[in-house]
Amino acid sequence: MIFNAEIPKRCDVLVVGGGPAGSSVAALLAKQGVDVVLLDKVSHPRPQVGESLIPHFWKYADHTGATPLIENEGFVAKAGGITVWNGKIHRIAFAEFGFTRPALHVERDVFDELLLKHAESQGAQVFQQVAANAADLRPSFPKVSYTDRRGSDLGAGRIDCRYIIDASGPSAFLAGQFKSKRLVDSRMRFLSLWGYFKNSRFVAADGRSYPAADVGKTRPVTFVTSFEDGWIWHIAMRKVTSVGLVINTDRARAMDKAGREQFYLETLRRAPYLDRLLESAEYLEGSFSERPDYSYYSTTLCGENFYCIGDSASFVDPIYSHGVLNAFYNANITALAVCESLKDPTRRVRHAQLCENRIRQFYGFSRSLALGEFGGSDGVDAELVRRFMRQISHVELELMLAASSMSDRSENFHRLVADAGLDPGSPQTRVHFMEELLL
Ligand SMILES: Cc1cc2nc3c(=O)[nH]c(=O)nc-3n(C[C@H](O)[C@H](O)[C@H](O)COP(=O)(O)OP(=O)(O)OC[C@H]3O[C@@H](n4cnc5c(N)ncnc54)[C@H](O)[C@@H]3O)c2cc1C
Repeated sequence: MIFNAEIPKRCDVLVVGGGPAGSSVAALLAKQGVDVVLLDKVSHPRPQVGESLIPHFWKYADHTGATPLIENEGFVAKAGGITVWNGKIHRIAFAEFGFTRPALHVERDVFDELLLKHAESQGAQVFQQVAANAADLRPSFPKVSYTDRRGSDLGAGRIDCRYIIDASGPSAFLAGQFKSKRLVDSRMRFLSLWGYFKNSRFVAADGRSYPAADVGKTRPVTFVTSFEDGWIWHIAMRKVTSVGLVINTDRARAMDKAGREQFYLETLRRAPYLDRLLESAEYLEGSFSERPDYSYYSTTLCGENFYCIGDSASFVDPIYSHGVLNAFYNANITALAVCESLKDPTRRVRHAQLCENRIRQFYGFSRSLALGEFGGSDGVDAELVRRFMRQISHVELELMLAASSMSDRSENFHRLVADAGLDPGSPQTRVHFMEELLL
């Protein structure tokens, strides 16, 4: 890691943000010999929510070359998911869909730092504690001003580049400048409250619970349970367990932060099954975090010299663990578009348009899966989503269909699959109904 190295005045591609989207696009471009500079306003490892990864993510890790690093880290391999939704218990196991590599529960600070280091090892110049402030996109060489927070004094500087890739996550650096960030329809507007526990028991695919110490021996599932106002996740990792709840934003608005933490803890203690998993667990004081209004999209994503990817473009909902996958997918198509544009700048507008369509397709796909219905003004083109569904692999579609059947939000998703003329077989046969969990 370069701590006090001089930040170049020029580069081909400037990436803002070193989360999974920024690190992956930087690694892919640097691997192909592109001169990439990446700025992150904080120092990694930094805390991040979003610890459940679904098995399709490996194909992107293979592509960037990060797979051996992820495998060697020894993250928790998970077997599948169990949901208790409106009292009905369902289970899916990834192996039954033909996935040969496991899904993971990852500590995101570790995972994200590992990806960032990988980008650097591929030749990207990474500068942490350097915040991008504003971009001037008008000239043929866009200019980005930044604040350098590495020393005791704040420094200021400017980089000229051919392309800016905004991977700044929910702070959505360029969307803020464009004023293009939109919250989704208020009925679908959620807020998340989460924290971490030590020594929580976890659920395995057999529907039994195991002590925290067994997490390396017995594969956990991601455990999800609904409650009257929303739903809760339980994600067992190596040393701690992430437990978070999702509720409609209006429900939480009347409470202050202390009130929300109290509501969070009381809700966990009352939730069926979860109360038993947490019975002897220790809540880590100070770990309480929240993210209001996390569902949004930007109306402007790509242009002749800029790309907005990952959470800086949109984020839907954590229910099907699509966030990191979306970041990886966006990074892959953007790396391709930027490489082609560098080779032939006369086609850069066309590449940007194609890339924007792809990013919107994935957003629409995730949105229909997670939130059930489209609001007319929520930035989704149903035809783009149908086209995307025709392109993805059968096994991925099957898994998503099966997963969607486990909650009550799946009607729209199933209709889209039918409208797209797809016959995914009967993935529901791989959704197992369970009478009871033996916790
Ligand atoms: C409650 C909740 C639960 C979630 N659960 C899951 C899950 O289980 N599985 C899953 O796959 N996804 C989950 N997600 C989503 C997932 O965490 C994100 O989609 C993912 O982190 C997006 O990666 P990213 O690289 O786009 O952004 P980020 O990971 O947010 O990274 C952005 C980076 O940009 C940097 N940055 C910001 N502004 C600037 C600036 N001006 N200059 C320089 N640097 C800047 C930040 O410091 C940060 O490091 C969840 C999200 C929420 C809200």
